Formats: sequence, structure tokens, C-alpha cells
Amino acid sequence: MGCVEGERERGRRRGRTGRATAARIVHEDEHVLAFEDIHPQAPVHVLVVPRRHVESLWELDDPELAGRLLFAAAEVARKLALERGFRVIANTRRDGGQEVPHLHLHVLGGRRLGRMLPG
Ligand SMILES: [Zn+2]
Repeated sequence: MGCVEGERERGRRRGRTGRATAARIVHEDEHVLAFEDIHPQAPVHVLVVPRRHVESLWELDDPELAGRLLFAAAEVARKLALERGFRVIANTRRDGGQEVPHLHLHVLGGRRLGRMLPG
């Protein structure tokens, strides 16, 4: 099992039937996968991840992949009709609050998001 599938597997949750179902995929292409966060912080909360393993934004060394990730975030926003606005976040390493050691962009929207940083 690839790393990305591992992340998505960790995203499994119990549906109403009690059966585990993988996090719902919102968008995918050859290089990038986007799926719903199982602990959403907003009405829309999608994670955009590269299929190949990159630890974090700090380790990202491929400008083309960087563009694909950002483009996928825009595709997710358009697919989910976030024309009123949304936010893209890349928590990076310890001080950035990164919780999973695989680069991911959070796409958040569906409500007014308030200040970018608490405090
Ligand atoms: Zn990974």
C-alpha cells in the first residue's frame, strides 16, 4: 500500500451502516489526490495530497508538482462551488502544526473563516 493510500486508510470512518468507508475522494489526477478531512474544521474541508511521498512543504523540490497541488486546490474549490471564497493552508513541520508527515494542502470554505491566525 502506498503512502497516500495509507493516509486515506487512516481517514476511514464508520458510516451509518457501521461499515468502515474510506474518506470520500473529491478530485484526483495522475499526480494528486483530494479527499474530505474526517475531522472537518469548516463545512468544506478537503485535503489535497501528492500521490508520491513528500514529507512536507519544506522537502518539496518539484516546482511542477507544486503547481499541480495548487491547481488541484483550485479545482476542488470550483467543484464544491466555493465562489464566495475559501482558504488554502499548508501546515509545515512542528511549528507549523503539521500532524501527518505527508505534504497536504487544506482547502477550507463554506463559511466566513475569520482571522488567519488565532490570537
Ligand atoms: Zn507520504
